[in-house]
Amino acid sequence: MSSYQVVLLPGDGIGPEIVGEAVRVLEKVTKPGAIQFSSQLLGGKAIDETGEPFPEVTRQAVLAADAVLLGAVGGPKWDKGPGHLRPEGGLLALRKALGVYANLRPVKAFPELIDASPLKADVAGAVDLLIVRELTGGVYFGERERGSNSEGERFARDTMLYTEPEIRRVVRRGFEIAQGRSKRLTSVDKANVLDSSRLWREIVEEMKGDYPDVQVEHVLVDACAMYLVTKPHYFDVVVTENLFGDILSDEAAVLTGSIGLLPSASLGDKSGLYEPIHGSAPDIAGQGIANPVGTILSAAMMLRYSLQMSEEASRIERAVAAALSEGARTKDIARPGEKVLSTKEMTEAILARL
Ligand code: NAD
Repeated sequence: MSSYQVVLLPGDGIGPEIVGEAVRVLEKVTKPGAIQFSSQLLGGKAIDETGEPFPEVTRQAVLAADAVLLGAVGGPKWDKGPGHLRPEGGLLALRKALGVYANLRPVKAFPELIDASPLKADVAGAVDLLIVRELTGGVYFGERERGSNSEGERFARDTMLYTEPEIRRVVRRGFEIAQGRSKRLTSVDKANVLDSSRLWREIVEEMKGDYPDVQVEHVLVDACAMYLVTKPHYFDVVVTENLFGDILSDEAAVLTGSIGLLPSASLGDKSGLYEPIHGSAPDIAGQGIANPVGTILSAAMMLRYSLQMSEEASRIERAVAAALSEGARTKDIARPGEKVLSTKEMTEAILARL
């Protein structure tokens, strides 16, 4: 039997603690030998040991892998270096090397934790959506300029450029993911003002004939931002460009109230990068109290999107939901008086329900 090659990038802070727990879950849910793991350096620890945040050895390993599971990078120790020598520089270089252009962020409410949400329980309780954000184009990567005019007044310019292939490949992901969920796709743009958005909308319209089973609608980004907090249940799969997706996915992440619970996937044509949405949490690193659920659910996404093991992915998701509904809580999600589990005990509560 051939094995899938998965590169682990534990990173900094709580990264190594939570990635280790996700591996325990993956080993329990898959057949022995189905996945071969190797571990590489990224971020601050890589800077300390090699002088670079994304060493060449790591680059070679991730390019040869079927998928990459990342903890988090960064911490105060490395905050003062120049941009390309910071841990976050390593993360951007990693995404670029892998060519991951579609970032997927599912956000689902766990009914038992709903009072951690800033929204009313009846609004937040129905959240179950997935944002597909374009990750390698748009204004973050367009031409830019800083200068001053003849009067000495400063100006700055950023360019939002999208090409047809860049739009098509991420919109296609949106349609395919919608087919696997409730067959509804919301495309978010600013077509009343921006030409790049008009092209985006045109292409979505052209492509919808290829997915007759999916119901498509267009929503302006300002309206979408409003609906996310007033009627989040309205959304299922949302596809949008880079800048809008950056803002909307962070807005959606807080709907459920717990940063430690949310996973993400970044997909290219060949590889996939999976990581929790939170950072390296240096304030709690080394204490054994971090919530491993975001990373464990990222590992489930890896099984589904890169390793063709959807059933195993669903088993992990059901085990997490069962552990939470039966009261398993790490410190970040426990209410006063509730029993608090360590990182390892939380994983064991999930393993016990697999
Ligand atoms: P953070 O997400 O690391 O932490 C924010 C707060 O949430 C902290 O109080 C932390 O203790 C808590 N928290 C985060 N994850 C948790 C978990 N799994 N369990 C329990 N509590 C958790 O954000 P920050 O403090 O702004 O950043 C810390 C470092 O992480 C910085 O160096 C930042 O650059 C880096 N960072 C990295 C990534 C990444 O690797 N993708 C993303 C964001 C931030």
